[in-house]
Amino acid sequence: MFPSVTRVSAVDIVRARYCNMDYIFLSSITSAGSLPIVLSYNVMCQWLKNFWTRIESLPEHLRGRLQKGNFKGVIPKFHIVVHEELCQQLYSLHYTPGVGRTDGEGIERNWSVLNGAACSMKEMGPGTRRDTLDDFCGFSNYKKVLAFGKWSLFFSNELNSILQ
Ligand SMILES: [Zn+2]
Repeated sequence: MFPSVTRVSAVDIVRARYCNMDYIFLSSITSAGSLPIVLSYNVMCQWLKNFWTRIESLPEHLRGRLQKGNFKGVIPKFHIVVHEELCQQLYSLHYTPGVGRTDGEGIERNWSVLNGAACSMKEMGPGTRRDTLDDFCGFSNYKKVLAFGKWSLFFSNELNSILQ
């Protein structure tokens, strides 16, 4: 068992099978509105094989939100260098419009914290394990919220220096 982390939630999955990832992903975007979606995943090139065929068996309320034209799968920049050249061409953030200079690795950063708790969590029952994951993810979110102030101050100062 290991958790899968999305921008809005973390899911404790029994096996990292693609059908589980399909369900988790589609569930996480049901309230995302009509904005384009860029998803980074270190095995995007593998996960997207037969993706559109696989999701045909999922309920309409899950897959109805996703359109081929408003979805782009990418591979995070640190991970993409070990992929084949074709993967680097198809799934690079460098060639993806609208993503700025993001590295797509944000989701991976949670592992540095969660890996430290893995040994104790694998001994836990399901309820305690979920509570512990919830605590760790909550703390991670708390640290992000605290950083918003630091970064907004940084960007505000940068903007002021540009405008002067
Ligand atoms: Zn690849």
